[in-house]
Amino acid sequence: MIPAAGALAWGRRRLQLSFAKHPSLAGHSRWAKRITRWIPGYAYGDEEVFRADGASEAVEASRRQGFFRLAGQFAGHHPRSIIQSTEASRHISDLQFTRAYRVPFQFSPYVRAHLKLGGFVESSEGVQITDLDGRRYLDLTGSYGVNVMGYDFYKSCMEEAMRRVQALGPVLGSLHPCTAWNAERLCRISGKDEVSFHMSGTEAVMQAVRLARYHTGRKHLVRFCGSYHGWWDDVQPGPGNPMPPGCTYTLKEMDADTLRVLSTRKDIACVLVNPLQALHPNRPAPGDSTLVDSSRKAGFDRQRYTEWLRSLREVCTQRGIVLIFDEVFLGFRLAPGGAQEYFGVDADMVTYGKTLGGGFPVGVVCGRRSLMGRYREDRPADICFARGTFNSHPYVMAAMQVFLERLETPEVRGWYDGLDERWNQRARSLNERLSTAGLPVRVVNLSTVWTILYEVPSRYNWMFQFYLRAEGLALSWVGSGRLIFSLNYSEDDFQAVTERFIRAALAKNPSGDAGEGSKETLGSSHLPVKRQANRPVGTTCSGSMGRLGVIHGVDEFAPQECQR
Ligand code: PLP
Repeated sequence: MIPAAGALAWGRRRLQLSFAKHPSLAGHSRWAKRITRWIPGYAYGDEEVFRADGASEAVEASRRQGFFRLAGQFAGHHPRSIIQSTEASRHISDLQFTRAYRVPFQFSPYVRAHLKLGGFVESSEGVQITDLDGRRYLDLTGSYGVNVMGYDFYKSCMEEAMRRVQALGPVLGSLHPCTAWNAERLCRISGKDEVSFHMSGTEAVMQAVRLARYHTGRKHLVRFCGSYHGWWDDVQPGPGNPMPPGCTYTLKEMDADTLRVLSTRKDIACVLVNPLQALHPNRPAPGDSTLVDSSRKAGFDRQRYTEWLRSLREVCTQRGIVLIFDEVFLGFRLAPGGAQEYFGVDADMVTYGKTLGGGFPVGVVCGRRSLMGRYREDRPADICFARGTFNSHPYVMAAMQVFLERLETPEVRGWYDGLDERWNQRARSLNERLSTAGLPVRVVNLSTVWTILYEVPSRYNWMFQFYLRAEGLALSWVGSGRLIFSLNYSEDDFQAVTERFIRAALAKNPSGDAGEGSKETLGSSHLPVKRQANRPVGTTCSGSMGRLGVIHGVDEFAPQECQR
């Protein structure tokens, strides 16, 4: 009788867990991993690359013309940067990877062979970076989110830091006094009792989870579908990680099924929240390499996300689960007190990184005293080990101190005043310009982090990143999925971005000889015009592209294979 009741309860909990998984592959790490191994590699050659959707010869010709015009422009404007990148990539594995995964894999070999980009730069100033050929770009890469205050700010933090700790140099183990100052200040900002310093965001997350496991005596961590927390095994189950998922539950974000799991299971040590996911809940970072099906969706609802965090807070408190806010990306970007302050929700632990190093690499965990201890007086052999040669490096600690001091200055405080209104208004005004020009591209934002949405699906939307680059807008290797502004973008700087953005969208005229924005011109370009959309949403493609799934909507490039 009792075993039967136990089995029933077990079955119910197992079912609850299944319901709390997102139906997409991103919600099923094991299946996603299996499926990635089955997907065959194939690549479009010269014949197919411009007509993978069955476009007419005329459209193919104009796409080809546009593509090679861009290639010629890059080669002419950036020869030194391109040569350096091409040669260096033979020895830098990371460069090979980022070059390959900038666009959908079917197109990647052709793009790599013919559309060469420079990946080297030599200076930064204001909101601009300059490549080896002296060409300047408005920086929208945000240096992976590090650049919140503007590059000059960090340069001066680093310079000042070197002066402060010059006498000590690289001494490790013993601490420079600025470390104590930082710890005190971070406790105040985060509202926590203790701090530990690490060398990267990944390490900070590892340590927060390890401590949560140690103190709760439970093994499992909950992360939300699509969210990034660094590249450590337990927070990155599924594709990209050769190991099978371990003690990680990947659950739906903003969903009652997840709350149900949290309120019934006894094996959950902690819940990791990356508040950046508020822009695209349950979806992975929106890179261009997945744009063949144009299914990118995003949109930020502050109120709903706040409610979600509150309900998480409640259930975690009830169940003794450690709530960890991973603010490695967003910390200090939304508000001086980070996402906790912005959403008004208090976590048990918070991880920071990126910008907090004042330009140097760093990872930080702040937590309640009851969670941060690494040993037990009554069980001296039962410790929670964490070290790291370069933890609390004097130069990093000094730059962090300068960063935190300047965070209090009226100038920096001023950047946070009306931050959301300013950036929401900027996004609105760009969207209005795009709409007026009849261009089917829109932006959505979570404050200064933006993503581009394509209103009309096309297998060539990923090409937009190259048009933006040609206009002098620097994007990171994930392309148009993430534009990161620094808070020091002035109105004039932003106007310059707007003009270039619009020009890039209009410049999809491959021949360059028709009037900007004319119907014919845009219709034959890589970027579709909205008014030409005429195929019902949800049309399924067959053929080689059909293998990738459903094309959600229309594609004006005469996609014969997709016509019903
Ligand atoms: N957590 C979040 C939310 C991140 O965005 C990142 C990096 O982008 C990390 C952790 C990992 O940080 P790092 O790259 O410094 O290891």
